[in-house]
Amino acid sequence: MSIIQQIEKSIQEREAWVLRRQKGIPTNKRLFVLTCMDERVNIEEALGLQPGDAHIFRNAGGLVTDDVIRSAALTTNFFETKEIIVVTHTECGMMMKSGKEIVKALQEKLGIDLSTIQLDPSLPELSLTDPKAIERWFKTFESIDEITVAQVELLRNHPLIPKDVTIAGYIYEVETGKLRRPFEMLSRRVNSHQEMTGNA
Ligand SMILES: [Zn+2]
Repeated sequence: MSIIQQIEKSIQEREAWVLRRQKGIPTNKRLFVLTCMDERVNIEEALGLQPGDAHIFRNAGGLVTDDVIRSAALTTNFFETKEIIVVTHTECGMMMKSGKEIVKALQEKLGIDLSTIQLDPSLPELSLTDPKAIERWFKTFESIDEITVAQVELLRNHPLIPKDVTIAGYIYEVETGKLRRPFEMLSRRVNSHQEMTGNA
């Protein structure tokens, strides 16, 4: 390839990259990923993702919030995204008894009543005035397995997500750096007695 051909090729590739949305080019894997903001979750490595492969949404817990719905609805309806993967993780900071302790700690720290604040300052209509609802807004959970399954169901049942989108949930084990399915702990199967099955 001549130098001019090389330059032309690289300009074309750059143009295709920059103008992806204008040209209607989807992500390489047509994938939306929801995961926790936790720095120990190496989501790109865990899923084998390269730049350009996916839309990635990270928040505390990797949990379905209104903004996850907003983003997932846009990418699945307008950007040809066909798969959604939810990745939660072991030892998540959101794993606690309830949001009560967060509300209490924040109110003490900041000296404000959380039920009086606007959660989205640019959208005052979106407000939670019930103190119990504010506790739930923080979205704490006790079982990483149960919460993962629940997030998949929330997305699957949401009217803004097309029914032909494939949705799966996995747990990233911080201790191994690997993904596992909810309720399937290999360590349990190799470290405790299992009933014999079949003829083996
Ligand atoms: Zn987390």
